[in-house]
Amino acid sequence: MAYEGFRPDIGPLDAPFWEALRRHELVVQECTACTRLRFVPTELCPYCASPASTWTPVTGRGRVYTYTVVHRAPTPAYQADAPYALAYVELEEGPRVPTRLVDVEPGAVVVDLPVEVVFDDVAPDLTLYRFRPAG
Ligand code: ZN
Repeated sequence: MAYEGFRPDIGPLDAPFWEALRRHELVVQECTACTRLRFVPTELCPYCASPASTWTPVTGRGRVYTYTVVHRAPTPAYQADAPYALAYVELEEGPRVPTRLVDVEPGAVVVDLPVEVVFDDVAPDLTLYRFRPAG
């Protein structure tokens, strides 16, 4: 079935992130001035305001920082999956990334649950990242 979910509005700032996902790699921005990592992509470093940054791969391992369970989905394309859990995952490298949790019953999700990234090729030109319980 064709993907009917939301599509990102990809621009020059975040194109490297989406290209990495298509290679099944999760990357975040790294400030070349202060070396801190950040997500979501921004033009300037939120810590030192430097415009210089690179993209650096992360392990894809982290823990659930916070989560919510969706019972009424935003569009019919998502309703078949409800209930499902949306979360912020704190990567072991530090940044927190918004995501959907998969391979877990929503009622089994807890704060600090160890999770790992998985890649979902939803369309020939679009790969999304999700997280599932680690191990
Ligand atoms: Zn910086």
